[in-house]
Amino acid sequence: MMLNVADKTDTQVRAKRFDIEKIRADFPILSRRVHGKPLVYLDSAASAQRPTAVLDAVDRFYRTHNANIHRGVHLLSQEATEAYEGARDTLTRFVGAASRREVIFTRGTTESVNLVAQSFVRPRVGPGDEILITHMEHHSNIVPWQIVCEQTGASLKVVPMTAAGELDLKAYRQLLNDSVKLLAVGHISNALGTINPVAEMTALAKQYDIPVLIDGAQAAPHMPIDVNAIGCDFYCLSGHKMYGPTGIGILWGKESLLDAMPPYQGGGEMIQYVSFEETLYNELPGKFEAGTPNIAGAVGLGAAADYLTAVGHDGIIAHENELLAYATESLTAIAGLRLVGTAAHKASVISFAIDGIHPHDLGTIIDHDGIAIRTGHHCAMPVMQFFGLPATARASLGLYNTREDIDRLVPALEKARKMLL
Ligand code: PMP
Repeated sequence: MMLNVADKTDTQVRAKRFDIEKIRADFPILSRRVHGKPLVYLDSAASAQRPTAVLDAVDRFYRTHNANIHRGVHLLSQEATEAYEGARDTLTRFVGAASRREVIFTRGTTESVNLVAQSFVRPRVGPGDEILITHMEHHSNIVPWQIVCEQTGASLKVVPMTAAGELDLKAYRQLLNDSVKLLAVGHISNALGTINPVAEMTALAKQYDIPVLIDGAQAAPHMPIDVNAIGCDFYCLSGHKMYGPTGIGILWGKESLLDAMPPYQGGGEMIQYVSFEETLYNELPGKFEAGTPNIAGAVGLGAAADYLTAVGHDGIIAHENELLAYATESLTAIAGLRLVGTAAHKASVISFAIDGIHPHDLGTIIDHDGIAIRTGHHCAMPVMQFFGLPATARASLGLYNTREDIDRLVPALEKARKMLL
C-alpha cells in the first residue's frame, strides 16, 4: 500500500513514540531462526510472545521470593504475597475496576467464563429462561452456556452475523426480552478480527436488566480495557494473549454480584473457618481462589499489563492498524485469496482461504520458510459453518510485527499456492 505524504508524516510522528526496533528487542524469541530462516511470528491470537519484562518478573519471583502466599509468617511468604497481591492491584488498574476485590485470578478466559456460568447463571435460570450469545463466539464462550442449559432447562439463543462477519444488531435488538438472563459476547472475534460494539450492546441489554459478560481474551492485547465505560458486569481475559504467561487470567466482576455468588470451587484459601458442621467462606476475592494459585503466573501477568501500559495503547493501536491495512491490501493481491471477516471495525487478525487449497497445507509449507500462522477452525466451528469452510488460515499480528513480516508472508503464500495447485 502506498502512503500519501500526509500519511507518511503522520506515520513518522507515530514512529517516534512507538519504536518498533526497541519493541522487537524486548522479545528475545523473535531473534531465533526456524528451519534456518528468521522467525516471522504471526500467531499472536493463539498465544503471544513474552517480553523480557515478563520473563524477568517470573524468573525473579522464582529465584528470590518463591513461597506459598497468604498466612505465612516468614519473610519469603510475605514477599510472595506482596508480589501476588501487587499484581492484582496492577490488573485492577488495567481493567479500570473500582476495587481489587473485583479481580479474581483464574486459569484464563475459559475458567472465568465457566466460573460465571456455574456460580452466577446456573442458580438463576430454569426452563423458559434464555442465555444469549453470538454466532462468532469462541468455543469457551459457547460450551459453558450449553452445559448450563443442559443442567437447568434454559435455552441458548444466538445473535446472527452478516457475511462481513459483523453482528446483526437489528436481530440482536429483536432477541432481547425479559427471559434473557445473560448476554455473553466476545469483545474481539479470534476467528474474524471483528471488534464488536460491546458498550452499545451492553446499553441495549441493560434496558431489560440483562447481566452482561464480555470475553475480552482477544481485546486485552490490542486496546485499553475500561469495564465501566463498557458498562458490563463481568469481563474475562487471558494472560498469554496479552504477552503474559499461560495458565493465568482474570475474571473481573461487579462486587455486588460476586459477593452474592456461591463459591465455584472448594478448598484452601476460599474459607474463613471450617468444621464438619459448617464452613464460612472467605471474602472477595479469596472466595473464588481455592487452592494454591499460579503465583508466578500472576506476577508475570502484572508485568505484562505494566509492559502494555508503558508501551502505550495509542502507539499500539496506530501501529497495528497501519499494519492491518498493509497486510489486508498485500494479501488480497494474491490470486484466489478470500478474506474471511471483513468487518469495518477490525483488530489485526486476518483469516483467509485460498481457492482449492487446504489451509493446513499452506501453513505447513510456509512453516518451512520460518513463518508461523495458524490454520484450522480456531475454536470457532460455528464461524466456519457459517462461511461453509472446514478451516481458515489466520495471520494474527501483535505489537512486534512489521511490514517486513508481511513482505515475507505474501511471497511465501504465493510460492505455496503454486506448489499446491
Ligand atoms: N475467547 C477468545 C475470543 C479466544 O480467542 C480464546 C483463546 N483462543 C479464548 C476465549 C480462550 O482463552 P483461554 O484458552 O486462554 O482460556
